[in-house]
Amino acid sequence: MRILVVEDEPKMRGLLRRALTEEGYAVDTADDGPRALALTDIAAYDAVVLDVMLPGLDGFEVCAALRRRAVWLPVLMLTARDAVADRVRGLDGGADDYLTKPFSLDELMARLRALIRRGPVERPAVLTAGDLSLDPSTRTVRRGDEEICLTGKEYALLEALLHRPGTVWTRAMLVEHCWDLGAGPGSNVVDAHIKALRDKIDRPYGIRAVETVRGTGYRIRRDGGRTATGTP
Ligand code: CA
Repeated sequence: MRILVVEDEPKMRGLLRRALTEEGYAVDTADDGPRALALTDIAAYDAVVLDVMLPGLDGFEVCAALRRRAVWLPVLMLTARDAVADRVRGLDGGADDYLTKPFSLDELMARLRALIRRGPVERPAVLTAGDLSLDPSTRTVRRGDEEICLTGKEYALLEALLHRPGTVWTRAMLVEHCWDLGAGPGSNVVDAHIKALRDKIDRPYGIRAVETVRGTGYRIRRDGGRTATGTP
């Protein structure tokens, strides 16, 4: 098992290298983001221990860059503060887990073992179907370069559909994912929100990404509707 440690502070970098080596891992280290990205290009790692506070590219940016390059190896982030915003940003940006400094080496090892057991999981931080994209970290939706403003419900429905492009979602499944427990609206309410969503992401572009599956529910086309034929 080969681990990449990305940390600019020499003392912490040395400590992590020694501890991981003692556990039997092969360890490479990088002291900044660009070096870390260069190393992941040339070596196959089983996990990355990534400090958030780095000069130049910070840990969030390194993680996002890895995911953009479709590098799915597990990322354990080290955050300096116990700041919820940092953890949320890290996880939304494609990190798998985080530890707040100061941490115990035992806990670090346990979390690494769990991540390595799980292996690389393909889960893009930005959900896409064709040129339609949704970025959960910024809650932005785009058709190509154009940003589209959605209501909370429209966003929730699109996020659900984009999690599994091409898969049919029944109205009941959509309600379960997008509405509070016990607040289940009638299926006509789901239909109304879907119509409103289409009016924003499809109709202005003359295409149909959100398809009705008669008698069942809805699905979003993998190609985002760009190659759809017929009238939207
Ligand atoms: Ca640091």
